[in-house]
Amino acid sequence: MTALTKIKLDWPALPNIHAFVTTREGGYSDGKYSNLNLASHVNDNLFTVNRNRSLLKDSVPYDLSFQWLNQIHSSSVVKIESSGKQQKCDGLVCAVSGIACCILTADCLPIFFTNKSGTEIAIAHAGWRGICNGIIENLVNTMDSEPEDIVSYLGPAIGPCHYEVGMDLKSKFKESKVCRKLWNDIEKCFCSINGSNKYFLDLYQATKVILTSLGVNQIYGGNECTYCQKDKYFSFRRDGNTGRMASVIFMEP
Ligand SMILES: [Zn+2]
Repeated sequence: MTALTKIKLDWPALPNIHAFVTTREGGYSDGKYSNLNLASHVNDNLFTVNRNRSLLKDSVPYDLSFQWLNQIHSSSVVKIESSGKQQKCDGLVCAVSGIACCILTADCLPIFFTNKSGTEIAIAHAGWRGICNGIIENLVNTMDSEPEDIVSYLGPAIGPCHYEVGMDLKSKFKESKVCRKLWNDIEKCFCSINGSNKYFLDLYQATKVILTSLGVNQIYGGNECTYCQKDKYFSFRRDGNTGRMASVIFMEP
C-alpha cells in the first residue's frame, strides 16, 4: 500500500496556507517503521525513506521545496528565505511561499503557526526538553507577526492518558526559566497517579498555558494521542525505535 493519508488542520488559516500531518499509512517502510516513516535518523533504510519523501512531495499539487530539520530538543529557531540542507534547530519561521517547513515527531508535539493575513508561517518541535528550553517563547518572538494576530495549532502528540512521568521531570519543569513564572498553571498539567510521585503530564495544556502567556490566544487542535492510536501514529513511548510522522506547513506558491 502506498497511498498516504494526510490529516489537514482544522483551523481558521487563510486558504493560501496549507498544513497537514502525515500518518503511518502509505509508504514503503517495513516492520517497526511501517509504513510511512519520513525520518532519516532512526536507522530505517535511507533509500526507502527517500522513496517515502518522494511520495509526500508527489502528494502535494504544487512545486515545493522541502526544508527538513536535525532536531535537537533546543530552543533554536531559524528564519528561512530559501530551503537548503538540514537545519540544526527545532523551529522554523518563513514568509516565503513555496517552502514546505517540516517537523518530524512520534510523541513530541508539533506546533503550527500562521497569522490572520496569511503572510507568515512557522512550525516548532516541542517535547518536554524543548518546552523547558524555551522553544515556544523563542518561536513566537522570532515571528514578525504580533501575538494577537497569530493562529496556532497543536498537532498529534502523546496525550495525558499515556504520558507518564516522574517527580524528576516535574522538578525540571519547575526549575526551567519558562515554566517557573507560570508554575501555578503549569503544575496543574501534572496529574498525580493515585497520589504517588508518578504523574500523567498534559503536554497540550502546558503548551496552551505558555502560548496564552505570550499573548497567543488562538489555539486549535490538541486532542489526539499518538500512543492510543496504534494504526494511525508512530509512538516512541509505545514502540521504542520506530518511524516518524511529518508535520508540514507551506504558503501556496
Ligand atoms: Zn493515550
